[in-house]
Amino acid sequence: MSSEPTIRRTPIRVLRDSVARKIAAGEVIDRPASAVRELLDNSLDAGSTEIALYITGGGIDSIRVVDNGWGMSEEDLRLCWLPHATSKIESEEDLLHIHSLGFRGEALSALANVSRLEILSRLTDEEMGHRLVVHGGQLISLEPHAAKPGTVVTASDLFFGIPARRKFLKRPSTETNLCRITFLEKALPFPDREFKLFIEGKLTHFLPVGNLTERVSQAYPEETRQTTLQELTGSGSGFRFRIVTGSPETYRKDRKHLQLYVNRRRIWDFSLLQGVEYAFSSYLPGGTFPLCYVFLEIDPEWVDFNIHPAKKEARIRNAEEIRKRISEVLSSFLLSRGRVSLRNLQVSGYTPLKNQASLWVGEGPGTTKEEPPIEPPRSLEWKNGGSSTKVDLSFPFPRSAESILDFPNSPFLYKGQVFGLFLLVEWNDTVFLVDQHAAHERFIYDALLRDSVPQPLLIPMEFTLEPEEEVRVLENASKVNALGVQIEKIRSGIWALTALPGAYRGGEEEVITLVKTQTGSLETLKQELFAQIACKKAIKDGEGINPLSAYEILRYVFSLDNPRCPHGRPLWVQISREELLRGVRRII
Ligand code: ADP
Ligand code: MG
Repeated sequence: MSSEPTIRRTPIRVLRDSVARKIAAGEVIDRPASAVRELLDNSLDAGSTEIALYITGGGIDSIRVVDNGWGMSEEDLRLCWLPHATSKIESEEDLLHIHSLGFRGEALSALANVSRLEILSRLTDEEMGHRLVVHGGQLISLEPHAAKPGTVVTASDLFFGIPARRKFLKRPSTETNLCRITFLEKALPFPDREFKLFIEGKLTHFLPVGNLTERVSQAYPEETRQTTLQELTGSGSGFRFRIVTGSPETYRKDRKHLQLYVNRRRIWDFSLLQGVEYAFSSYLPGGTFPLCYVFLEIDPEWVDFNIHPAKKEARIRNAEEIRKRISEVLSSFLLSRGRVSLRNLQVSGYTPLKNQASLWVGEGPGTTKEEPPIEPPRSLEWKNGGSSTKVDLSFPFPRSAESILDFPNSPFLYKGQVFGLFLLVEWNDTVFLVDQHAAHERFIYDALLRDSVPQPLLIPMEFTLEPEEEVRVLENASKVNALGVQIEKIRSGIWALTALPGAYRGGEEEVITLVKTQTGSLETLKQELFAQIACKKAIKDGEGINPLSAYEILRYVFSLDNPRCPHGRPLWVQISREELLRGVRRII
């Protein structure tokens, strides 16, 4: 994350009304943690390399941020707490090229209104600083004052005189914890800056300058202790990302450590993180999530943060491509860490499949270091959520067959497609012909079984219902909920699908059809729905498949106790070397 454009100090101006109105308005400061977020943003925007945060009494008594940034002039201090006073943008045009964390010129004015605010600041190249005091929106004083270069902002007595707001706050310990979480989220994407957190005067977190992986483990020492963190990178047109990921052996029951940062801001959009969940899905037990931190950098023109007052959401233009790329990079990493070198494999004799398949299961930490992750081929087909980009690598068979045979170095060898129907596999003394559609169906079916965590759709899908269908939907409501599907009535006859588990993506139409027609039990509903989605999403007869996907599916079906498709048919036929030799009468 080195190519951050350099932002230089510019004097503060008050935005023209027309620009101010274009900015998503909202109450920026609703609790101590949001003041922390805004103040840390300001320190980061001011080029600070050392930032200290002091919290007392849940941040309600006081929040102080000390930074060594470029500071403010007397004139800046006079303006900084006025509404829409900012040094970061000037025109509407600038909204398209935002490189700073702040840009609305709202935070200090909001904070000045709801607290006793004191700002002590000195420009780096001046001898003397200035001190501004504003209480509840009333200017108390602005005077020259001795100060170190940089800025100290102190907001005390938060929401004094606003009892309604105060009542809405949680216990101080909870508010402190929210401040701490915010602090860590701010520090995470800036490993090149030093951060300190003091709670009730005691230093509780010290995050020295380091690399990204180090920053993650400094910030979350407890959570990351058990795992080997691995840093991965990827890119595409207009974006690049770094991922710090734990191994699949360490997982959680919540998504707290499945985090996305876009241009160094934490974003609560799980749709991009579906790329992560998808990659991990065949490695983790159902309902669990990996520790995975995605740091995405996008060309500012491709992303709009100006849709949420606290910038917790963003609109990203090439989200689909990014999701795919994230998924590819992680899949390739997960695949590579599961690989077993053929040298170590017992080649003599035929060992039962199940034992061999277990070789894929985690090899413990360390292996990833010796065997760096394989970069997947650039052009790749990735089927995810019903959509697929077809860049066919294997059909027709590539000229250099080696590229397939060597990739990845697994206990079995995928030899390519046969008749556009079967995946040909050589494993020790046996040849397998795996039904590609059936195997993929089973792979998807099992992923559907594991996933029942609803994820909101960015754009709810509306549908119409006849009166008798509406009755059926209401009857089915509890079953539908149990599936993790959320539907809402908008008005009479018009409903919307608002959330469904990530694995169901691409099967939205099936979900809708089913909720309005099905009458059976939850079990039948599930089976029918999953079979339909799996069939729809699975690779079709005659369709090409890229080696990476082929390996992924094969690896999964070879590890099954009962390798049958959702309709109960076997997934493959196998022929031994001996049978083949007998066939040509080499042995009798
Ligand atoms: P915004 O960050 O959206 O511009 P704020 O109300 O947060 O709006 O801050 C107003 C202005 O005050 C900023 O544009 C910046 O010029 C100045 N400022 C605030 N905090 C600092 C700081 N710690 N160091 C230097 N300048 C600051
Ligand atoms: Mg700001």
